[in-house]
Amino acid sequence: MSTLIRSNPHTHTQFCDGKSTAEEMVLSALDKGFHTLGFSSHSYYPPDISWCMAKESVPLYIAEVRRLQEKYASSLRIRLGLELDLYSLGHMDLAPYEYLIGSVHDYLSPVSGRLLSYDNKPAVMETMLREDFGNDPLKLAKHYYEDVYRLIHQVKPLIIGHFDLITKFNDILHLYDTADPAYFKPALEVLLSCCEEGSIPEVNTGAMARGYRTSPYPAEAFLKELLAHGYPVILSSDAHDAALLDYALDETALHLKELGFKSVMALGKDSLLEEVPLV
Ligand SMILES: [Zn+2]
Ligand SMILES: [Zn+2]
Repeated sequence: MSTLIRSNPHTHTQFCDGKSTAEEMVLSALDKGFHTLGFSSHSYYPPDISWCMAKESVPLYIAEVRRLQEKYASSLRIRLGLELDLYSLGHMDLAPYEYLIGSVHDYLSPVSGRLLSYDNKPAVMETMLREDFGNDPLKLAKHYYEDVYRLIHQVKPLIIGHFDLITKFNDILHLYDTADPAYFKPALEVLLSCCEEGSIPEVNTGAMARGYRTSPYPAEAFLKELLAHGYPVILSSDAHDAALLDYALDETALHLKELGFKSVMALGKDSLLEEVPLV
């Protein structure tokens, strides 16, 4: 298949929980004929979270991306981004970054004081549900989407990260159904209000690459609403491995085209964003 999407704004490396080095990601991008590549390490927040950058890694990450920007300037436009977690607010200087991906991953339990992740394992989500939400998935969803709203409205990042992350394990747990208005309607309101702020939802294939899901985030019902409201989307692989840098990007672009999208956004070579027609 000819390559439609030659860019990825959501790329992790060994500075956080990625398998590959930043330079391996660059070489993979060049190999795949990319025009642009955006790095987006997980932001630091205390206490040290294993999958995030350590505090001392932050300047090293910035320096390495800047080194690669210079080294590969003639062949690839590299952008310094950050995947910013809600809990990092107040703990990171955001000035060095060309763009932000606003993502909620974790939940700090007021009941147990533990930090639990929506992104970890089905069993963690079941624990969260049982201990904090009376086994009511809608209560958990309400909390999650309120956090998404808070993060996006406060920071107004360029990109809204994996909007419906709480459905990561839906193939196993079957907690959420977009046909149920009790779940869908309040989530959609949050999504549209975030788009109104100018943030762009990503269509993220990361959980497909890692075998958790067979479709990208967000669910198709959200995509149809975005289309109906005329909001753009940006494709991302949320890559943690250089070999998977373009995982399912083209098939997802074709799927978006089938849904009716005429274009998607991507990191641009000259301007930060460019519109890529789906022809
Ligand atoms: Zn994420
Ligand atoms: Zn990510």
